[in-house]
Amino acid sequence: MNIILLGPPGAGKGTQAQKLQNDVGIIQLSTGDMLRAAVASGSDLGKKAKAVMERGELVSDELMVGLIKDRISQPDCAKGFILDGFPRTEAQAKALDKMLEEGSHQLDDVIEMEVDEKALTERVVGRFTCAKCGTGYHEKFKPTKVSGVCDVCGSTEFSRRKDDNAETMKTRMAAYRAQTEPLLPYYRARGVLKKVDGMAAMDEVYRQIRAVLAGT
Ligand code: ADP
Ligand code: ADP
Ligand code: ZN
Repeated sequence: MNIILLGPPGAGKGTQAQKLQNDVGIIQLSTGDMLRAAVASGSDLGKKAKAVMERGELVSDELMVGLIKDRISQPDCAKGFILDGFPRTEAQAKALDKMLEEGSHQLDDVIEMEVDEKALTERVVGRFTCAKCGTGYHEKFKPTKVSGVCDVCGSTEFSRRKDDNAETMKTRMAAYRAQTEPLLPYYRARGVLKKVDGMAAMDEVYRQIRAVLAGT
C-alpha cells in the first residue's frame, strides 16, 4: 500500500504516519525528517537546504525529487510507504507519478488532513520531539506521561525545530497555499483523494485514516 498524507504544516501528518508505520509496517518517508538529518550531518544537501528551511520556504524540486527517488527504490519500500511532506508542488507530483510508473508502484490513496490555521500555529509552536528516538509530542495535546521523560525510550533530551515559530509559520502557510494546495484538485481529478477531519483528536483522525485504508 502506497499513500500520501497531504496537509498544511502542523496538520498531524508525522503523528499519523508514525502510528501507521508502527501498526501496519509500511514505511514513513518524511522529507522534512530526511532534510533535517542532512542538515545535522552537514552533507551537501544539508548545506543547500538549511537556510531555505529556516526561512520556511520550499527546497528545490530537483533536490527533493532526487531524494525521494533514491529512497523509494530501496528494498524496504517494496511493501509500501507513506509519503509525509512530499509531494509539495505540482512538479514534484508529476515526477512522483513517473517514478511510481517506472517502479510499477501504484498510488492507493491521497489523504487530505484539513485543519484551521489558528489551530496549526498552536500545534507547531507547542511541538517537540524526543532527540533519541524521534517520537513526536506536544506541550498541551500530547505531553510525555512523566514530565521530561520520553514515553518510548526514556530519554530526557528533546528537540524543537527552529522553524516552529509563529513568524516562520506565515511563510510556510503561504508556501502551502501557493504551491501545495493545487495538488488537491490534481489528485481529486484522479479519484484518489480522501478527506479526514484533521481538527479531531489524534485517535479519531487515526480511526478515520484506517477506515479510508480499509476502503470503507
Ligand atoms: P511541516 O511540519 O511543516 O509539514 P516538514 O517537516 O514536512 O514540515 O518540512 C520542513 C521544511 O522542509 C519545509 O518547510 C521545507 O523547507 C522543507 N521540505 C520538506 N519537504 C519538502 C518538499 N517535498 N519540497 C520542498 N521542501 C520541503
Ligand atoms: P505535521 O507532520 O503535519 O507537521 P505533526 O504530526 O508533527 O504535524 O503535528 C504537529 C503537532 O501537533 C505535534 O506536536 C503533534 O503532537 C500535535 N498534533 C498532531 N495531531 C493532533 C491532533 N489531532 N490534535 C491536537 N494536536 C495534534
Ligand atoms: Zn524517545
